Amino acid sequence: MISNAREREVRIVVVDRDPSVAGRIRAVLEQELPRHLESGEASARVEIFVAPTPCQGCRAVSEWAPALFFVDTLSRCATGQDLLRRVREGNQDVGIVLTDPDLDPDTALDAAWRGASAVLSRPFTDGQLLRAARKALDFHDGRRAERDTRYAFALTLGHELKSPLDAVEMILNNLVSGFLGTLSEPQIDGLQRALARIQTMRSLITDYLDWSRLGAERRRRNPRVFPAAEVVHKVMDQAAEVARDAGVVLLSDVSPSIRLRADPWEIEVLLGNLVSNAIKYNRPNGRVFIRVQEDDHAVSFEVEDTGIGIDPAALGRLFKPFSRLRDPRAEGVSGSGLGLAIAREIVLLYDGEILVESTPDVGSCFTARLRRCRGVDLPGAAIPCPFDGP
Ligand code: ADP
Repeated sequence: MISNAREREVRIVVVDRDPSVAGRIRAVLEQELPRHLESGEASARVEIFVAPTPCQGCRAVSEWAPALFFVDTLSRCATGQDLLRRVREGNQDVGIVLTDPDLDPDTALDAAWRGASAVLSRPFTDGQLLRAARKALDFHDGRRAERDTRYAFALTLGHELKSPLDAVEMILNNLVSGFLGTLSEPQIDGLQRALARIQTMRSLITDYLDWSRLGAERRRRNPRVFPAAEVVHKVMDQAAEVARDAGVVLLSDVSPSIRLRADPWEIEVLLGNLVSNAIKYNRPNGRVFIRVQEDDHAVSFEVEDTGIGIDPAALGRLFKPFSRLRDPRAEGVSGSGLGLAIAREIVLLYDGEILVESTPDVGSCFTARLRRCRGVDLPGAAIPCPFDGP
């Protein structure tokens, strides 16, 4: 990360079951890496967090947004495997250096395929360690630049598309309300259909912007402690008009005592997408029930609907970007195919999972389970653990 024009800060997370290896990685990188990174007038500062466990290491990667992650246990850590998968799918910029002592060629190949930027077989020299760090850092820098450019482009595009939509919508609304003269029923009907198309386009643009922002702003997350009811009520308010138009009733059950530490924007987008689907794929006089539950390990947001349901054979296609099921019962329902993929990305940020149960013609229930985690003491303590409790 470039904190100002003259100093570059490089954050690194290290996980190693052997404390002496972790200590050596820290010492070499702290002492030598800044010298390798300095260019012209710009200096470099390296900040290292040695995580006590692989899971805390992965958590630190998600929360602290380091440039590099040195890890020795990916093949045995489910969270680590997940992290590699996310790198491959293009949603993490961290450069991963795998330092597994039991590394065989198959695991090394597999790790490279899944997104590791460098693989160090042990024992390694200081020079090899530095080369691996620089290689992984190149990967990180390239990804970061690409993502920021993409996001800047998405923002401009979003703005350029939304402004004319707002203007056209205002004109159409004036026509429909009769301010510019009396219109016939068929004319009003046509204009109302045009207004509905504008809403569809606006939600496509919003999904696209959320998707881009999720990737670009990972390091500018803003976690705070807040009641789950706050976000539930906000999402219900936002969805109220669409639900009314669709003839769907929104209900909720959330105890005011349930609090979570999270980025409110992320939780709002997650829940908003599930609720929006529960309304879109419902039936007239249907219901949407939002429940929030907690236990020691997680906070769960559950969204149940009485809608068209999902064919069991199609469940495996959910949560992939741009994957829309071709269900004749949803003919005419518009969408970007990004809502569930966005929801899943957000859940992964909380080391959680998203589950779905569905019965065709009866309804679906999506549960987003966000894991609590107690205290990863990150350097600078700038970014706390998302579920550190109230
Ligand atoms: P979309 O913008 O198409 O709604 P999503 O990613 O939100 O995209 O959902 C992907 C697909 O999953 C939808 O197109 C729809 O076929 C199916 N789906 C999502 N939620 C539900 C639901 N509550 N009931 C039935 N089908 C659903």
